[in-house]
Amino acid sequence: MTTYRALTEAEAIAYAKELPNIFAADAQLTSREIGDGNLNLVFHITDEQSGRSLILKQALPYAKVVGESWPLTLDRARIESEALQLQASFCPELVPHVFAYEKDLALTVMEDLSDHVIMRKGLMENNRYPLFAGHIGTFMARTLFYTSDLGMNQQKKKLQVGQFINPELCKITEDLIFDDPYRDSPNNNVEAHLKDAVAAIWKDHDLHLEVAILRNTFLTRAESLLHGDLHTGSIFIKADSTKVIDPEFAYYGPMGFDIGALLANLLLNYAAQEGWSTDEAERADYRKYLLETVKEVWTVFEREFRTLWDNDVTDPMSETPAYQDWYLNRVLQETIGFAGCKMVRRIYGLSHVADIDGIEDASAREKAQRLALAIGTSLIKHHRKAASIDELIAIARDAA
Ligand code: ADP
Ligand code: MG
Ligand code: MG
Ligand code: MG
Repeated sequence: MTTYRALTEAEAIAYAKELPNIFAADAQLTSREIGDGNLNLVFHITDEQSGRSLILKQALPYAKVVGESWPLTLDRARIESEALQLQASFCPELVPHVFAYEKDLALTVMEDLSDHVIMRKGLMENNRYPLFAGHIGTFMARTLFYTSDLGMNQQKKKLQVGQFINPELCKITEDLIFDDPYRDSPNNNVEAHLKDAVAAIWKDHDLHLEVAILRNTFLTRAESLLHGDLHTGSIFIKADSTKVIDPEFAYYGPMGFDIGALLANLLLNYAAQEGWSTDEAERADYRKYLLETVKEVWTVFEREFRTLWDNDVTDPMSETPAYQDWYLNRVLQETIGFAGCKMVRRIYGLSHVADIDGIEDASAREKAQRLALAIGTSLIKHHRKAASIDELIAIARDAA
């Protein structure tokens, strides 16, 4: 039994040395802290001699946000390590392997993925990943199906809901995504040149109704174990491999929230192309690639999910004709609505994305921001009427 303390690099090395069957007893280890330091420490431990390495991720008992410090439960480290291990049972090739979890230190020991890059960075360099849609569509279909009442015993599922109660991290989502952006909250971070667009959103009661409905779904629908923070900064990628990391926001919620988060981040990069591709034809071509990827992600998800349903669902009520179609259409509608919410909050909420904020040219950045807001608000307003992913694509393509 140890007591919690935030590890120093020397302590991280000492801890790594003690792990069974990883490093030699006399190994000369080095450590580098590579996290961004807001919520968690991430130590990259290497043994030059053998070439072996691993990652220690340790939760801090607070989050640093806008200069202030707010307490945050260490239990999220348990949730993250248990979610990673559960996801690995459905698709081991799509998540980092977890070697150990140390409760008292809120520490997860996992596979080093430094040969991959964070996808947000890859997209900002206009790279293309032809296997990505297949990988992530499969990840979402498997993790969302096999943790739902369709893919597991309903009584076991209820117990699993209890395993992943995550009220403090859910509150961050509830406030930052479904509340603050729709009123003049001190948590917002509004640039002066966007004041008119933001004021219009604060007055738009038709929009607020749709957000309130989506918020209610997020609060009440224990449908599947979500990743909970599935943006392109939570994905490590290289040409032949995709790995989903950082599920500390995992909880039982609506499937469309994960799918929508992912699609929103592809669409934020789409909007950000105002600043990242200088050549008109090149920009149009990369945008075409992004929209094709959005469509393929949904298409793979739907195909895989239907296959799992056809093969693995055994209860007679779920085999009722037309039920599967009804179900997937509802997931599509919620995906579109949550995607819109995820886009809006990244433009003037508390926390933004580098795709947009990294644009140096002020007029290009403003154009990208207004485009993202136009797409995001249209998706939210349209979501309950949607019947095809093509409608999301058309909204993105036609937004001015
Ligand atoms: P946080 O919850 O603080 O955002 P992440 O799990 O996203 O933590 O990790 C933060 C950063 O640490 C990542 O962007 C990545 O650069 C690095 N990192 C995290 N996990 C790994 C890993 N398994 N292999 C290599 N680098 C990692
Ligand atoms: Mg981070
Ligand atoms: Mg992260
Ligand atoms: Mg995180």
